[in-house]
Amino acid sequence: MAPPVIGVLAIQGDFEAHVRVLERLGAETRTVRTPKDIGGLDGLVIPGGESTTMTSGIQREGLAGPLRDLVRAGTPVLGTCAGLIMLDRSHLGLLDIEAERNAFGRQVRSFEADLDMPALGGALRAVFIRAPWVAEHGEGVEVLAEVDGHPVAVREGEILAVAFHPEIEGETRLHEWLLERAGRRCRQASDTKNGGQAE
Ligand code: GLN
Repeated sequence: MAPPVIGVLAIQGDFEAHVRVLERLGAETRTVRTPKDIGGLDGLVIPGGESTTMTSGIQREGLAGPLRDLVRAGTPVLGTCAGLIMLDRSHLGLLDIEAERNAFGRQVRSFEADLDMPALGGALRAVFIRAPWVAEHGEGVEVLAEVDGHPVAVREGEILAVAFHPEIEGETRLHEWLLERAGRRCRQASDTKNGGQAE
């Protein structure tokens, strides 16, 4: 059985760090720069970076429609930091949240915190870099962790979005969450192709 193929949006930001984590976990990865990179993906990472630059790159490449189609088809997604912003109502509109950019203030450019995230197996060391928080969210959104009462990790369906950078601390549980779901999806697709016969 082939490993799931995970696309990593590579318009701008720290996509290479995500590629390294995913490959260490046994995934096949593909950097996504144009719509032709999207076909056949089993999962997607939207990395941290600068959401304004990412927004204009997505526009320039005509990626918004194909990314929305991919995610609306049920493909699991992990968005981190600027990736969380890209998923919100004002950007790709895939998560029922409103992100506030640089929410921790300009002076507090970066900090680390221990989060309690029972949904992902408990305590987690998180690195925040000019991070957003979730200012508002709909009822279907599950809050997985907070800092000072503000959501910094949320899940809605197959989308997991966090305000921090798991790829920096060597924290792999979020990528494992994505891979587990992508693997399931990949197996379902191949079962369908084989007329329901498992390989
Ligand atoms: N401050 C950035 C933005 O608003 C996000 C920072 C990050 O991804 N580390 O886009």
